[in-house]
Amino acid sequence: MTQATQEKATTSATTAFRALQCKECGAEYEPKATHVCELCFGPLEVKYDYDFLRRTVTRETIQAGPFSIWRYRPFLPVMSDNPIDVGTGMTPLLQAHRLARRLGLKKLYIKNDAVNMPTLSFKDRVVSVALTRARELGFTTVSCASTGNLANSTAAIAAHAGLDCCVFIPSDLEAGKVLGTLIYNPTLMAVHGNYDQVNRLCSEVANTHGWGFVNINLRPYYSEGSKTLGYEVIEQLGWQLPDHIVAPLASGSLFTKIYKGFQEFVEVGLVEGKPVRFSGAQAEGCSPIAQAFSEGRDFISPVKPNTIAKSLAIGNPADGVYAIDIAHKTNGNIESVTDAEIIEGMKLLAETEGIFTETAGGTTIATLKKLVEAGKIDPDETTVVYITGNGLKTQEAVQGYVGEPLTIEPKLESFERALERSRTLDRLEWQQVLV
Ligand SMILES: *Cc1c(COP(=O)(O)O)cnc(C)c1O
Repeated sequence: MTQATQEKATTSATTAFRALQCKECGAEYEPKATHVCELCFGPLEVKYDYDFLRRTVTRETIQAGPFSIWRYRPFLPVMSDNPIDVGTGMTPLLQAHRLARRLGLKKLYIKNDAVNMPTLSFKDRVVSVALTRARELGFTTVSCASTGNLANSTAAIAAHAGLDCCVFIPSDLEAGKVLGTLIYNPTLMAVHGNYDQVNRLCSEVANTHGWGFVNINLRPYYSEGSKTLGYEVIEQLGWQLPDHIVAPLASGSLFTKIYKGFQEFVEVGLVEGKPVRFSGAQAEGCSPIAQAFSEGRDFISPVKPNTIAKSLAIGNPADGVYAIDIAHKTNGNIESVTDAEIIEGMKLLAETEGIFTETAGGTTIATLKKLVEAGKIDPDETTVVYITGNGLKTQEAVQGYVGEPLTIEPKLESFERALERSRTLDRLEWQQVLV
């Protein structure tokens, strides 16, 4: 047999996915539904054959693929030729001219996952991968422990794939995230407790019920979905790396996987390598990673979350130490911002770029602003900011901070009077600002 036909015979489809490997001790495992090393309790990560990828993948083969995350299928941990494709990924990379000018930056881009499909957050990426793998492994019921967006994604994509679904959330989530899960008719468990308590409960359920929990026993596969946020930015920048990225941190997984995505494309020769700085964003009311970073610690002290950025409210982040390591070695930063700054961040992005993001995005924009003001982002750096969720899901956060409509009678003079009054009010406001 030639080498090429041998490869065809030993790898189903064109995938380079080979095994699971412990991130700490390197022990290898069969690619089953497992996430912890039996020897050292380190987290397991997917291992690929990069020589195979270097020989078989080119920019052209990627561009000939579907307009979704599945154009990068050889880099994802699935075997099957027909993954669950609900149009996830390939979200816009928008050059943010007005926001850049406001902040004093020269080249700023927004990677806009607020319009990801099907549920308007970056979580659709990780769930598309996790449920494809869950189906391959024979699971008929899928589940997750969620801070909100993951519940939306898991319920929606499970519905599309015809999988039974039971999701767990803290009982105090925003109405939009609860309704945006219930509409898909999963079993929804609202737990009296915070995310970390929900997660602990789910680990026990995973052990007793044999379900596929996307972010527990399927976590090595799930987390790989976030690499596509790295691949897409490279492709959309015309096969180049940016100089600096800013992304939000909950468990820290997304942040570490953007890094892995960049590294892999360099490793297989799809993009020329150069240093990229990684900066992370947290809400002050739940900032265990930012706190450890600023105190120079390489371990996380868990906290009890209290912030409007509920989608980032993980007090004991599983990948926190890896995120700190990346921020350090890339000469980046990890900062936190207050709830008031988060609301200002949401408004700033909406007013300058026409993007309505949720509290997580407000956290990221407010952190971007803080980093620029502190001189921690150079105006000349090509900077990419990851906006990961949609503002329609967290309307409570800005209720009362966006003004009111001008209510009028259906008459021209009523309109003219209201318009005149609003202009006078605007002028008065400006005068107040000036004095
Ligand atoms: C879950 C989530 C994140 C962060 O996810 P991690 O990978 O756990 O760090 C960021 N933004 C939004 C909107 C999310 O829902």
